[in-house]
Amino acid sequence: MYDTIIIGAGPAGLTSALYLLRANKKVLVLEAKSYGGQILNASKVENYPGIISISGFEFANNLYNQVKRLGGELKYETVLKISEDKKVITDKNEYQSQTIIIATGASNRRLNILNEQQFIGKGLSYCATCDGNFFKNKFVAVIGGGNTALEDALYLSNLAKKVYLIHRRDEFRGEEKYLEELKDKSNVEFILNSNIISLNGKESLESIKIKNKEEKIKELKIDGLFIAIGRIPENEIFNNVVQLDDNGYIIAHDEVYTKTDGIFVAGDARKKNLRQLTTAVSDGSLASLAVLKELKEK
Ligand code: NAP
Repeated sequence: MYDTIIIGAGPAGLTSALYLLRANKKVLVLEAKSYGGQILNASKVENYPGIISISGFEFANNLYNQVKRLGGELKYETVLKISEDKKVITDKNEYQSQTIIIATGASNRRLNILNEQQFIGKGLSYCATCDGNFFKNKFVAVIGGGNTALEDALYLSNLAKKVYLIHRRDEFRGEEKYLEELKDKSNVEFILNSNIISLNGKESLESIKIKNKEEKIKELKIDGLFIAIGRIPENEIFNNVVQLDDNGYIIAHDEVYTKTDGIFVAGDARKKNLRQLTTAVSDGSLASLAVLKELKEK
């Protein structure tokens, strides 16, 4: 019997683990992929108070080591189902807990275009910091208009020969600071008001076709395409115990409380206004306090 099972080892989940381990609780963290979550892909984190600059990879490692140092138990298993009585069924085991924190974040949004699946790892990637090195002195494109796309384009501009930054509107969602830096890069070309309409190649990606607002179609020869169009939650498996909004995010009250007693949510998986590292760790600490309160009342 665990005091709490935390589903997801990103910043929200690991922060909850950190707080609960420090309160001497029996904690299990379950993670389907790798610890660190989305922050692993950030080349640099420079907006976390108190840390001037750190790579996402180093931040994730620090957090993981902080949890391990306190004796945290982390297992790589995929959760298939949880129940109101706090039973957690994974692809490998079944666990019983007194409380659960859902901190599953969100996964990469797909373009949903023909051949997208086929080209993954063959010129198409969702993570510039993971795969950028394969494209040294090559032609690449990034699609998206948020901070991820801007950061990816900046990162790639230091590796690739040419970077096309494709966005469907003429205004970016990402921060001005990144835009200014990008405008100073001679190898970055902005392609605005445009969408990708086809991915082409034999063994690997060789070109993409884009269409602009005036319906003009253009072919770009590229070696790599980085898709950075946001993330989507995968909360369907929890819908027996939580309420989801139209976009699949978990609706919480008082930040981290779901509709089921003893089941909490933290981080990007929940409906919220700002999805940042700071708000993820904030949720993680709030969820741990909610767990402590629940355990006391039991
Ligand atoms: P995001 O802010 O949601 O931006 C997604 C972008 O993709 C938007 O520009 C959107 O266009 C575009 N898009 C969505 N669906 C599309 C489609 N089907 N086809 C073409 N374009 C599409 O996502 P994000 O950039 O991954 O950022 C997520 C959160 O993490 C944000 O809060 C962001 O600030 C934060 N973040 C922070 C940092 C940092 O501080 N260092 C780094 C990375 C991310 P529209 O604009 O037209 O909707």
